[in-house]
Amino acid sequence: MSADLLGQFDPEMTDFMNQVMALYRPIFGTDNRWTMLIDGTARAGIEAALVSLVAAGDKVLVLNSGRFGLLLTEILSRIGASIETIDVPWGEIVPMETLAAAIERTSPRLVAAVHGDTSTTMAQPLDGFGALCRAAGAFSYVDVTATIGGMQIAADRWGVDVVSGGLQKCLGGPSGSAPITISDRAAEHIFRRRHIEKGIRREDIVDGHGPRIPSNYFDLAMIMDYWSEKRLNHHTEATSMLYAARECARIALGEGLEKRYARHRAAGRAMAAGLRAMGLTLFGNDSYRMSNVTGVYIPETVDGEAIRHAMRTNFEIEIGTAFGPLEGRIWRLGAMGYNAMKHKVLLTLGALEACLRAQGHPVAMGEAVPAALEAWDA
Ligand SMILES: *Cc1c(COP(=O)(O)O)cnc(C)c1O
Repeated sequence: MSADLLGQFDPEMTDFMNQVMALYRPIFGTDNRWTMLIDGTARAGIEAALVSLVAAGDKVLVLNSGRFGLLLTEILSRIGASIETIDVPWGEIVPMETLAAAIERTSPRLVAAVHGDTSTTMAQPLDGFGALCRAAGAFSYVDVTATIGGMQIAADRWGVDVVSGGLQKCLGGPSGSAPITISDRAAEHIFRRRHIEKGIRREDIVDGHGPRIPSNYFDLAMIMDYWSEKRLNHHTEATSMLYAARECARIALGEGLEKRYARHRAAGRAMAAGLRAMGLTLFGNDSYRMSNVTGVYIPETVDGEAIRHAMRTNFEIEIGTAFGPLEGRIWRLGAMGYNAMKHKVLLTLGALEACLRAQGHPVAMGEAVPAALEAWDA
């Protein structure tokens, strides 16, 4: 990131932009031509996708099973979309049959979901997701911020139209760039919206593509033109962030995606085994855990915040709190990117054990680390 700044029309820079497009295709599991970066944190990618895909009054079906499903509805409500949600308790996922029934009932223009909702530590299964949406004439969007680079993203196999993420979770980069991929069919829809004149009345729109995209910065049609051979000027590229995004992808592909996913799975397995061996109870549906963050109930006899503070001050380890209905009920232990390493998981478990014991919680001493070691290699 400390490399010399280049303008976005410098041939060296446009070459970097093309490299970024190529590097992120395997990471998203796609052949999509339109695979690029939105400047801003992950939410910039989410907002660009939603504001470019749907307009006020469009019906959108949201899989709402955690904090980030709620974020989708929040952004969509500002767009003025007509929102339908499939609500499941935090810690559960939406079964495909439930999704199919909801699509049939609501006939949405877009179905929006979160892959790994870090607030609940659950990963939504997405095989067959895009096909269900397409069969009903709907576009599909998935937020993969928390899983990209750590769990397999399969945009093409899932058949999802737009997928966006961020650098700061499993890709181990700085926050401030949002990789995104867009199917040709979604791109065509977005380009057509650009050509519809400002001011046209909704009821006059016959092709169903909706009115003009009401954002300049997040107008994906303009951003695609900017990343295309046309190189139409839009924003000033966030050069250093682009270098960072490129390097994150190079490192991930250098490690090998399969190896990287296996490393995250090992970390998740070890963390879960260690916590259980300590006598703690994991949160959520066991069949759908994210491999890179583990939720665990805070024992009733301890003060969750005091433990977090003790972990931070004595061991320099930060464990997560929780939001909404889970606030004060669970901790979330992340093992993403550079933290998905054996020694970090083992140190975290040892530290947690010591902090629990110091607070007088009757923890099974000395069990967690060996259990985690065994589970890592299982
Ligand atoms: C962390 C996270 C985000 C974060 O968005 P930012 O704008 O980068 O803060 C979005 N979605 C999900 C699922 C996340 O886990």
